[in-house]
Amino acid sequence: MADLIARAARDIVRSSYAVALTGAGISTESGIADFRGPSGIWTKNPEAEAQAYRSYPEFTRDPKIWWQNLLTGKTHDPLGPLDHARPNAGHLALVELEKMGILKTTITQNIDALHEKAGCAHLLEFHGSRSKLRCLACNARFRPEVFDFQKLQKEDRLPPRCLECNEPLKSDVVFFGEPIPDDVAEESYAEALRCDLMLIAGTSAAVYPFANLPRVARQRGAVKIIEVNAEPTPLTQEGISDYLIQGKTGEVLPAIVDLVRELKIDR
Ligand code: NAD
Repeated sequence: MADLIARAARDIVRSSYAVALTGAGISTESGIADFRGPSGIWTKNPEAEAQAYRSYPEFTRDPKIWWQNLLTGKTHDPLGPLDHARPNAGHLALVELEKMGILKTTITQNIDALHEKAGCAHLLEFHGSRSKLRCLACNARFRPEVFDFQKLQKEDRLPPRCLECNEPLKSDVVFFGEPIPDDVAEESYAEALRCDLMLIAGTSAAVYPFANLPRVARQRGAVKIIEVNAEPTPLTQEGISDYLIQGKTGEVLPAIVDLVRELKIDR
């Protein structure tokens, strides 16, 4: 593993436009379960996955009832409350790489806002964020604190409405079957086409269209794609990534960044 960490550090220092792609695996060391790892939520409870598929049709059918169910606790949330979770060494290592001017963008599937809490400056939340609401009509995002949900409920004024265009708001989190918001999707694809190094951390690469991003980058040829994951993925097996560093993101990413720092000083 030490050889591969050194190789990754050299590749990163030679790159001119690096982007990171992250998934639920980078947050397991912050105490948030992933979906498809050996202790994942879907792995242990396949019915929870089936339930999650019903949420988007329920919202589009009747946003008012969807919000009432959420506020009265009738909606089951497979991840549970996330407010307690703090960024771990993996999130912080990526922020350090960004501060060095090497990492230009972090594109995450995670909805836990831990990259934001860690201080990531250029972040694309491909599946949205738990800490925002989004208007499906105009993509405007709002912090939930802006709204008094108890008052809206008491006055029978649910759902909360967009402050720009007055359409119903939903959680910014992209539900199963919901299209990826076009602003985030377009910018993510542009970054995948532009980068000359892609550092992929903690994703099974099983969820589409996110898993297309490394494939889009690979089509360009002149790109290094490095995976850091606890287990091989389809990207490893199909040769989309150049190599896999098999281990914990909270240990491997800081080790890579330590070496990058040394290599930069020597230059
Ligand atoms: P996934 O559950 O499909 O895969 C996670 C991968 O990370 C697995 O291959 C697992 O072996 C690996 N892993 C787990 N802990 C690791 C660690 N410490 N170091 C290295 N690797 C580790 O996750 P995914 O690919 O992100 O897809 C799941 C979808 O569910 C995402 O789209 C995401 O939106 C959502 N999700 C988000 C969160 C979160 O926000 N934290 C948590 C669960 C699911």
